[in-house]
Amino acid sequence: MELKDTYRHKGMRKQLVDSLREKNITDEKVLAAMEALPRHFFLENAFEEIAYEDKAFPIGCEQTISQPYTVAFQTQLLEVKKGDKILEIGTGSGYQATVLAALGGFVYTLERQEELFHKTKNLLQMLGVQQVKCVLRDGFNGLIEYAPYDKILVTAGAISIPESLKAQLKIGGSLVIPIGAGTQEMYRITRKSEDIFQSDVFGSFRFVPFVAGIHRKN
Ligand code: SAH
Repeated sequence: MELKDTYRHKGMRKQLVDSLREKNITDEKVLAAMEALPRHFFLENAFEEIAYEDKAFPIGCEQTISQPYTVAFQTQLLEVKKGDKILEIGTGSGYQATVLAALGGFVYTLERQEELFHKTKNLLQMLGVQQVKCVLRDGFNGLIEYAPYDKILVTAGAISIPESLKAQLKIGGSLVIPIGAGTQEMYRITRKSEDIFQSDVFGSFRFVPFVAGIHRKN
């Protein structure tokens, strides 16, 4: 990755954020965080010129960094407040986790691909990103040792909603998760009480699959 942020990058980023606004992303805090954060830092050099297109790109291990529109959409649904304790499942490039941290969240992020976990953990350290803790873990079971969470965000497509994640939400907290095989519907599950959960559905997306088990480096 290229760790220089030039005026040209900033200009491309502003155009990207303007295009997200046109696509009905309305939360100005989310847009400001994405305008401030250099997405090209989270991609290989080969993608530097196109890093500010509204597209998903490969990040290795057959995984992708989510499309900026998807990052903005999920982040907006999460309604992050300063000091929120957030669990993210699917660290990938670390971009989404860093956006959540920029909004004042304290983020625990889980990745099942050992290689991506190490790569991203090192990158975030190099970038001096505080407030994101990377953990190599199968997200199906959440992260019980720091539960409960104000917010949980899943950035891979799941077949159903894991009960373990609902159980790790604070009362009043919410879980944003894409559900479905092939394409997914975006769900936001809000915990109203110990055992009442409200569920709302928002639009279709396409994610890499939520897969069980840790994938070790070869
Ligand atoms: N949030 C990421 C998007 C990464 S794509 C970003 O900003 O770049 C989704 C990621 O979820 C992939 O890296 C994939 O390996 C990971 N993943 C899939 N199933 C998982 C599981 N059970 N536990 C943890 N991570 C998982």
